Amino acid sequence: MTDLLEDCRRTHYSKQIKPEMKDEDVVIMGWIHEMRDLGGIIFVLLRDRDGVTQVTAPSKKIEPELFEELKKLKKESVIAVKGRVQESAKAPGGVEIIPETIKLLSESKLPLPLDTTEKVRAEIDTRLDSRFIDLRKHSVSAIFKVKSRMLHSVRNFLESENYTEINTPKLVGSATEGGTELFPITYFEREAFLGQSPQLYKQMMMASGFDNVYEIAPIFRAEEHDTLRHLNEVISIDVETAFTDQIDAMNILEKMVVKAITDVKEHCKDALDTLEFDLQIPETPFPRIEYDEMVEMVNNKGVKMEHGEDMSRAAEKVMGELMDGYYFITAWPTDIKPFYVQPSAEDPAKSCAFDLMYKDLEISSGAMRIHNHDLLVEKIKSKGLNPDSFNRYLAAFEYGMPPHAGWGVGAERFTMTMTGQTNIRETVLFPRDRRRLTP
Ligand code: ATP
Ligand code: MG
Repeated sequence: MTDLLEDCRRTHYSKQIKPEMKDEDVVIMGWIHEMRDLGGIIFVLLRDRDGVTQVTAPSKKIEPELFEELKKLKKESVIAVKGRVQESAKAPGGVEIIPETIKLLSESKLPLPLDTTEKVRAEIDTRLDSRFIDLRKHSVSAIFKVKSRMLHSVRNFLESENYTEINTPKLVGSATEGGTELFPITYFEREAFLGQSPQLYKQMMMASGFDNVYEIAPIFRAEEHDTLRHLNEVISIDVETAFTDQIDAMNILEKMVVKAITDVKEHCKDALDTLEFDLQIPETPFPRIEYDEMVEMVNNKGVKMEHGEDMSRAAEKVMGELMDGYYFITAWPTDIKPFYVQPSAEDPAKSCAFDLMYKDLEISSGAMRIHNHDLLVEKIKSKGLNPDSFNRYLAAFEYGMPPHAGWGVGAERFTMTMTGQTNIRETVLFPRDRRRLTP
């Protein structure tokens, strides 16, 4: 038996084989999900991308040589089976395959580091250590099918709204915003950092005449979080739009969220069924609650929150109980938002910043940005930062900078809301957190 493909090619995936195809010859390829040897008959469950097909081999109906080969197969080995479709009320999908030839393409070692049939539940750390096997489970791969579709629909939507996709550097010379901690790296003879946000580059692009830009790329946060909603490397969906304010930014964000959810619901039916998740399309407009009102709501529920404070986890949880779905929190205190956030014209203590929440989870932060050079310098100083280290950025504000606004959505948190996951690690193929840097 050769382990090479030669002229053997898959004709069907499991999901495509229907009882109407009775007596047709097919070639299926995949992993051995389960083996049952009942003596006179062998059942092999072959698993492929999104389904499982039963291969039924009764000793009386197939060549003795083939029967012996089948007996030797091991779980999770990769095989190609050529055979005939037969109706079977008991088998998955109502069909089984009577094999004519089998190719063993790759033999699996036993025992397996993880059970792929999901009969034995493993801890997340064990699963992540052997992520390539963990991903063979349809309940795990389903999350990434949703994430892929979400990113696809986000791109489609932004392209349809005339946004240009950009790529900004992830190797940066200095801190973007202050506040968040950065990962230092060695850049030849100098120190550099991994980018925590494309914010300053997106803004410089506003002075370039592109008007509408977006980037979907990793951001790195060096905070020592150990929560179910923080990672040290995440994918940020970042948008910036010239000649707009925070209201326009919220409107476009809301529209994108609804589009992406609608699209996922339409195109990922199987994945959502596998996840047993009932994805709801949110109604628009999303409720918009001012920060002051939010503080009152939180305090009324017995969780202490002072004016001017950022939301504690307890405050987020209370809001999650009060608000069932997506909502914005607007008019944040200027003091607790980054230096580039535009203060409100009526009351500069309040800002043009907003957060998009889903229940108790922050999905996005956004704002109208300062486009006035002198105000920006003043704000940088007031945050205790040195304007000199922002020279190249600040220059973009001296030669014609339009008013602009934008936001960043964490792709993983957004995926959590679309798949019903409570641990962000479930939504990243190979997560990076405080303790994990491999695989
Ligand atoms: P949080 O307060 O929840 O820690 P943040 O306000 O620090 O988040 P922002 O800097 O506003 O995060 O980043 C914009 C978005 O990027 C967040 O709303 C979130 O969706 C995502 N994001 C940022 N940092 C992380 C992280 N460490 N892990 C996962 N997602 C993140
Ligand atoms: Mg935020």
